[in-house]
Amino acid sequence: MKAAVLYGAKDLKLEELQVPTPGEGESLIRIRAAGICGSDLHYYSKGSSGPFKPVKSFVLGHEFAGSVESPGGEGFGEGDRVVVEPGIPCFRCFYCRRGRYNLCSNLKFIGTAASIPHIDGGFAEYCKVPAVSLHKVPDGLGFEEAALAEPLSVAIHACRRGGIDAGEKALILGAGPIGLLTASMAILRGSIEPIVVDLVERRLRVASDIGARAVTLGQDTADEVIELTGGEGADIVFEASGSPSAIPVALKAVRKGGRVVLIGNLPDENLTARLVSIATKELDVRGVFRYANTFDVAIDLLSRKLVPISKMITHRFAIGDIRKAFDIALSGDALKVLIIP
Ligand SMILES: [Zn+2]
Ligand SMILES: [Zn+2]
Repeated sequence: MKAAVLYGAKDLKLEELQVPTPGEGESLIRIRAAGICGSDLHYYSKGSSGPFKPVKSFVLGHEFAGSVESPGGEGFGEGDRVVVEPGIPCFRCFYCRRGRYNLCSNLKFIGTAASIPHIDGGFAEYCKVPAVSLHKVPDGLGFEEAALAEPLSVAIHACRRGGIDAGEKALILGAGPIGLLTASMAILRGSIEPIVVDLVERRLRVASDIGARAVTLGQDTADEVIELTGGEGADIVFEASGSPSAIPVALKAVRKGGRVVLIGNLPDENLTARLVSIATKELDVRGVFRYANTFDVAIDLLSRKLVPISKMITHRFAIGDIRKAFDIALSGDALKVLIIP
């Protein structure tokens, strides 16, 4: 089978690999659509993503859907259409027992270097995955949209963590797919015209298109947000850019007693910001690490067409053109880039 193997920064090779042999409790999936995520781009451009540094070559890709080739578990049959939840928790540790399995002490994650040995991911024609990681894709929901249940899960989890409520004024920093999906979820939860900030015109156009208020990032962005929110600032700020320079904007643009939710993939280094406002404004700062218990909701929302996901898919490439796909995804002009293996 064809697969895209990452060897290091800018070293992504298209190779002919053996179709994986599923073990006990594992399913073999014929992949039909796989999304390129911001973390894939970090691995591709820098060779690592946040704290995760590869120790060996592996197949990237953790947002993918396809059909079951061999089930290997209860409840699924050959040919079933499925989307894969890429986190593999142990279901036994302190966090798993409390339902917070994204924080599992023994967590493995498909298509990333987050666990050792790394587990090959979805930029390939086939992938073997634990049968418990499968979620059924209902009729009427395409593979492309279903693959994006993964990034939508991040947005669902971020809104749960932030506890956004009807009528609240939300600010989202970063109009990449995660920022736009978070804006969509905020709207679904009753936030009226959340403000979305970015530098890229094309992304801001999509933000307006999905019902958000698009604001171009500038020197005075925080002041502009305070003005747009009636003088007090946003009730809740979602940092979805991963840029350290967004933190001071978030702390300034949030109102007193508000919440700041950190979603973006920040660099793994010491960052400086004036944190005194966390105390003086009594802010709640909450982190988001992937998601837990979200896939069923994500699939349901997507199949009811409640999330404008197709507006966020800007490019599709065959697996043979994967390097081109990565370069376009890196250019910043693209939103979600899909590989169709
Ligand atoms: Zn992702
Ligand atoms: Zn666990």
